[in-house]
This record gives sequence, structure tokens and C-alpha cells, in this order.
Amino acid sequence: MWKLLILALAGYLLFKMFTGDKRQSAKRKKQELKERVAAGELVKDPVCGTYVDVDTDIRVRQGDTVHRFCSYECRDTFVRRLEAREVTPESVVQDKDKEEEEA
Ligand SMILES: [Zn+2]
Repeated sequence: MWKLLILALAGYLLFKMFTGDKRQSAKRKKQELKERVAAGELVKDPVCGTYVDVDTDIRVRQGDTVHRFCSYECRDTFVRRLEAREVTPESVVQDKDKEEEEA
């Protein structure tokens, strides 16, 4: 009986440690992401909101702005929207950043 209790307790502690660790590393990752964005190493994919390396080859120039994408799929979506005039330079600039800050 005691063995079972101790086992359950150990399992619970392990579980807590594991989930706590996971949460911490997610926090660290987010912090690292922020730093890299601030350093200009990462830019946001305007289609899906994923952060991509500035060195990526998947990019589209729109006037003075160069948009970078995580995939050709996103790039094609963006180009299609651009051609349909759904995307204006103004609408691209205001991305999801504000929403994420509030959440
Ligand atoms: Zn994307």
C-alpha cells in the first residue's frame, strides 16, 4: 500500500517537474525569439505569422519593402492577395503583434 502511495507521489512530482520544465523552455524560446526579432535576424511571415530568418530565399519585394515567407505556399498566397489587391502596404504593416501582446 505504501509503495503504491510513494510511487504515485514520485510520479506526480516527475510530472510536475516535466511540465514546469516545458513551460520554462517555452518561455525561454519566446524570449529568444523576441531578442532575435529585435536584432533584426527574424521577420514575420505576413501570411501565417511565423518568424522566418531574414536570409531566407523565399521573398517578395513590394515597393521598398521585402516580405519574407516560411514557405512557397505562403509566398504564393501573398502574391495572389497582392494581385487581388487584398493586401496594401498599410495592411501588411499592422500584423498580429498587438493581439499577441494582449493575450
Ligand atoms: Zn508562412
